[in-house]
Amino acid sequence: MSFSHFFPPQRTLMGPGPSDVSPQVLAALSKPTIGHLDPLFVGLMDEIKALLQYAFQTENKLTMAVSAPGSAGMETCFVNLVEPGDKVIVCINGVFGQRMLENVKRCGGEAVVVEQAWGRAVDPQHVEEALKANADAKFLAFVHAETSTGARSDAKTLCALAKQHGCLTIVDAVTSLGGVELRVDEWGIDAIYSGSQKCLSCVPGLSPVSFSDAAVEKIKARKTPVQSWFLDQSLVMAYWSGDGKRSYHHTAPVNSLYALHESLLLLKNETLEKAWARHQKQHEKLAEGLKELGLDFVVPEDERLPQLNNVYIPEGVDDAAVRKQLLEEYNLEIGAGLGAFAGKTWRIGLMGYAARSENVALCLAALKSVLK
Ligand SMILES: *Cc1c(COP(=O)(O)O)cnc(C)c1O
Repeated sequence: MSFSHFFPPQRTLMGPGPSDVSPQVLAALSKPTIGHLDPLFVGLMDEIKALLQYAFQTENKLTMAVSAPGSAGMETCFVNLVEPGDKVIVCINGVFGQRMLENVKRCGGEAVVVEQAWGRAVDPQHVEEALKANADAKFLAFVHAETSTGARSDAKTLCALAKQHGCLTIVDAVTSLGGVELRVDEWGIDAIYSGSQKCLSCVPGLSPVSFSDAAVEKIKARKTPVQSWFLDQSLVMAYWSGDGKRSYHHTAPVNSLYALHESLLLLKNETLEKAWARHQKQHEKLAEGLKELGLDFVVPEDERLPQLNNVYIPEGVDDAAVRKQLLEEYNLEIGAGLGAFAGKTWRIGLMGYAARSENVALCLAALKSVLK
């Protein structure tokens, strides 16, 4: 076997993630590595925390980036909060809701499942019924932006219902953060996790998380230790805390955090409101073009995510051949269907830096020529 240096091509990434990474973020990655306990790096971590508080719209002190991808953020929320025997209402309307259920089971929690058709938002009425029927439930868990289907659930309403019934909320915002409206404090979200490689347009491998004071109280009152040493927030807290006496927990992915800092700074400079509006505007342009090509959306218009467009593959079209041709001839990646939609749909992402007019134009032109 012979080895050679790796030179990846310049692709346009319009799938379910990773999304296109901006040149500024890539440049930040290649800056000199410094020690993770270097005072300058400690200062950078404090800034990242403040920028994450802005992105999440929260004042939660326990806000940080887990040194692993979105799936680890999910696991961080569940292993810290759910103790054996705790009842958790889990909403499932796609692949990532199913993963939440798997997490609850592995924590020894008792899951109550609220099922919803794939491609639809979680139904608040069904959630309310489950909350009423399970007065002893401690948590409500749901996915804000179901990347497997393209459906957006009404996080504000679901969190208000949970509060009325004395439940803490665990929210998956991996694909929603930076792409659609999300207000952690105003909506009363207790535990939330996201990912670096979706609408933040950073490299994969980091998971921003945030916990409310009520969630922190629940963690502090645990009767059993968190089964994961690495994800135990009471230990990581001392590493990410801004009070000057930082202790070693693990070695932070230094350069990846430079990149996250840069991507969060770009978001802050653009402002959240403008980023949300940009995703919506590009989505509308894309949707119009897809309609002209005869491609139908899976999700009803008022429940659609602008950043994840899930459309049916036309009858008689070879799914894999089209995606291969897009990749080879146009350097364009779109996503295959996932779970129940495998082989049936394409998932076209407009995430972060990828949500631009030139990407929409490229995608529509490429699809038009390949489908001909
Ligand atoms: C991508 C995604 C995840 C998992 O994130 P990874 O970074 O791939 O581990 C979890 N939830 C949702 C909704 C996602 O889109």
